[in-house]
Amino acid sequence: MPVLMYHRIVEQEPLVDADGVCTSVARLEAHLAWLAAHSYLCVPLDLALHRAHKSEGRRFAITFDDGYAETLRLALPVLQKHSVPATVFVVSGMIGGDAVWNHRPARLLTHDELLELQSAGVFIGCHGRTHRRLSTLPRGEITSEVAGARDELQQMLGTPVPFFAYPHHDFDARVLTAVADAGFAGAAAGRTGVHGRYNLHRIDAARLSTWQLGLHVSGVHRWARRQKIPATVRRMVARLA
Ligand SMILES: [Zn+2]
Repeated sequence: MPVLMYHRIVEQEPLVDADGVCTSVARLEAHLAWLAAHSYLCVPLDLALHRAHKSEGRRFAITFDDGYAETLRLALPVLQKHSVPATVFVVSGMIGGDAVWNHRPARLLTHDELLELQSAGVFIGCHGRTHRRLSTLPRGEITSEVAGARDELQQMLGTPVPFFAYPHHDFDARVLTAVADAGFAGAAAGRTGVHGRYNLHRIDAARLSTWQLGLHVSGVHRWARRQKIPATVRRMVARLA
């Protein structure tokens, strides 16, 4: 099942977006309209953990990383318009702060805004405590960034937090074990390594056209990457998608 990943929703995409995190409201709107028009049903991330039966039809899940302030102000109205369940991964130790890991810092959701998002039906996931690259940390700090962040969020929200997303998509065997040991049901990543419960592959949809989105969600892009085709052709497909 395709899992879409977005970061920050903005009114207008900047000409230069060094971190590749900005998606305009219009693009998000166009993506959801295209998916609905092509019979893709948006489902909660939990369903990505189970192999879908053909009779269930086309499905996808949608996620937002980092918890930017605009998630409430700009993304939520679009999600509500399309009745789309989404998961927003937030950094437990930086609620109300700034996303300082980007070239251009951006404001993150405050505690009250996070609760407002949750009460609007958005699922909240855990994205670590300080958004550091977890594979670079000693074991004790990994535990703090994974289990510690989860405890903080659960206390803050008053609900279970079943999903984790690796900051910078960075993890190794120790991090994966820490996520499993902390009791997370699953973890969202980028698209390296073997797809699985603790490495749920995602499509970075931030700047895709609807045509490119179609290639990704239909699996054409993944299929092309696996084929033994000349590198030049593969590069051409990668550029298109
Ligand atoms: Zn992040």
